[in-house]
Amino acid sequence: MNANILQTPIDYLKGVGPNRADLLRKELGIHTYQDLVNFFPNRYLDKTRFYKINELQRNSAEVQVVGKITHIRSVEQKRGKRLVADFIDDTGKMELVWFRGQKWIRENLKINTPYVIFGKTNWFNGLFSMPHPEMELVEEYKKQLRTAMQPIYPSTEKLAKSGITNRVINKLMQQLFIEIKGKFYDTLSEEITSELKLIPKAEAVFNIHFPQSQELLAKAQFRLKFEELFYIQLQLLIKNMLQKQKIKGFVFEEIGQNFSEFYSNHLPFELTGAQKRVIKEIRADLGSGAQMNRLLQGDVGSGKTIVALMSMFIALDNGFQACLMAPTEILTIQHYNGLVELCKDLDTSIYLLTGSSKTKARREIHEKLENGEIDILIGTHALLEDKVKFKNLGLAVIDEQHRFGVAQRARLWRKNQMPPHILVMTATPIPRTLAMSLYGDLDISVIDELPPGRKPIKTVHRYDSNRLKVFAFIKDEIKKGRQVYVVYPLIQESEKMDYKDLMDGYESIAREFPNEQISIVHGQMKSDAKDYEMDRFVRGETQIMVATTVIEVGVNVPNASVMIIESAERFGLSQLHQLRGRVGRGAEQSFCILMTGHKLSNDSKTRLETMTATNDGFEIAEVDLKLRGPGDIMGTQQSGVLNLKIADIVKDNEILKLARHHAMRILKEDPSLSLEKNKVLRFTYAQLAKHKNIWNYIS
Ligand code: ADP
Ligand code: MG
Repeated sequence: MNANILQTPIDYLKGVGPNRADLLRKELGIHTYQDLVNFFPNRYLDKTRFYKINELQRNSAEVQVVGKITHIRSVEQKRGKRLVADFIDDTGKMELVWFRGQKWIRENLKINTPYVIFGKTNWFNGLFSMPHPEMELVEEYKKQLRTAMQPIYPSTEKLAKSGITNRVINKLMQQLFIEIKGKFYDTLSEEITSELKLIPKAEAVFNIHFPQSQELLAKAQFRLKFEELFYIQLQLLIKNMLQKQKIKGFVFEEIGQNFSEFYSNHLPFELTGAQKRVIKEIRADLGSGAQMNRLLQGDVGSGKTIVALMSMFIALDNGFQACLMAPTEILTIQHYNGLVELCKDLDTSIYLLTGSSKTKARREIHEKLENGEIDILIGTHALLEDKVKFKNLGLAVIDEQHRFGVAQRARLWRKNQMPPHILVMTATPIPRTLAMSLYGDLDISVIDELPPGRKPIKTVHRYDSNRLKVFAFIKDEIKKGRQVYVVYPLIQESEKMDYKDLMDGYESIAREFPNEQISIVHGQMKSDAKDYEMDRFVRGETQIMVATTVIEVGVNVPNASVMIIESAERFGLSQLHQLRGRVGRGAEQSFCILMTGHKLSNDSKTRLETMTATNDGFEIAEVDLKLRGPGDIMGTQQSGVLNLKIADIVKDNEILKLARHHAMRILKEDPSLSLEKNKVLRFTYAQLAKHKNIWNYIS
């Protein structure tokens, strides 16, 4: 198993001088032979197949055709001329077109001589045409040796400018394979390769760079994708396992007074099946002796708060304190009020701590926390400050996870000698496959059922030209006593324009609704002014709330039953879904109206159609993932998933599941990978961990 040659610095490869080495390092992150081996093509030109003209499809794929030119002519167009050649085979006719270099081409083209042409086709005026085809006389073509599938490598502007073309990369790759021939050891165990009928590593990497056939290329891709995903899953599962072994958790054995009393006498409603199941999962974790790190996913309105409360009761019943952290002041206050209301008949002591808590109140909280008089502390990230010391924190709940980072989770850990149990709640449904990769180190619970009696929100798409009808509808709803949100987009790049839109919108609504009270909230307002306006809306003093997306997270006004989203085409799917989640919280039928102009991109259309078709957050998340890719969805912080070298987390979903399944199976049988048959896995795992080759994104 000599892997060393693969660690040779790239400078040593024949054909790579200091300049190229520098560029390869800087532009492509290629430092070693190994890195170059793992620099995979992102597509292939398929030259295995010759098409007949009558087989061409209108999909502008790159195709290869054999035929002859029968006629060449110049065609006048708006600016200048184009050169057009009629090209035929025994099934039909197409056109070849040039816009540049016409003189040279005209002089050199041979009439009635067989050519192999290659390029993209367009469908135009009832004929296929190929602009600027690659051409070669059949006679010449036959003389050359070539691989059928031509790999195309990712490139950058700088590389292209410096002459590191695809051909150069190809040559380097050839040189590389000459030097390292036969030096590959297999990186997956015999058991896996034979069960999944995977081709050997050496064959796979060779065929990725020099495909010998379509079939071998497909096998090579499968093998390498599987391997990449397998080791990521292995890593995540091992991390999770070690965490459970190493990090002891407080054992909450008791189900005591608080929990039972609340459950029997004060539950305001029957829990849904999903809520019960999730509470059971959490109870099991809390009693297991290992520290809990659980992610609770549940669509907006699915009832996560009560789950958090019941979990906190378990901590209290075992003599510990609990805290709940939320991302904004408004949300925190709502949580506080909600929980105080739920606990009004119990003698649970609940306190609120936010950025605007006064010094005196703070001092009191600090003191009572340390002497154990506070049972539950609810707060913003003010909770994380070092001055905030608990007597005995046993459980920390974090609401709306995507607003907090991993670092903040870690700071909560340090709030006790032994880290408290952690429950992270998110309303941004993450498709399972993605969750597996991003949060493989967290256990996941899902509330996949809404409380009974909810009327699904009716969502419609309306064009700006129908605004008057929409206004009339709003008037009707307000007459019935409902409240209405009108939301405007706000993006940094066009901030000024957006504020103008918002203010214009506000003015036109004020004109249209002279008798209604209107609140306005946007990011440029001072926070007390914002809170004041919010508050008026929450208390029902205003009927219409005009806002930017600041209201996206968590706000709960059950009487608000209409959500108008302006310029809806500019919002992402998950954001639209979050916004819509602000309504549909009361007993009334709720509506979401997506307003747009007539001009819409295909993606925008898909987003709007998805929103009107479903209320299911998970379904929406899947579509979102397909439209945007994982990086965008999770924000830059976690975009490391994009560092996958060959697998695609969306398209290779099935392979991901397969990889996870095998990683789990193997670890179950052999947690330390010490069986002889798994030796190669342990070796490769250690190598990868050492060189951080494929998962340097995992913290
Ligand atoms: P989210 O998951 O968005 O945080 P909440 O916990 O705020 O949802 O719950 C949304 C609303 O549903 C609240 O008004 C809550 O009281 C109510 N609710 C929660 N669970 C149930 C249930 N099992 N039956 C009826 N209503 C419920
Ligand atoms: Mg909530």
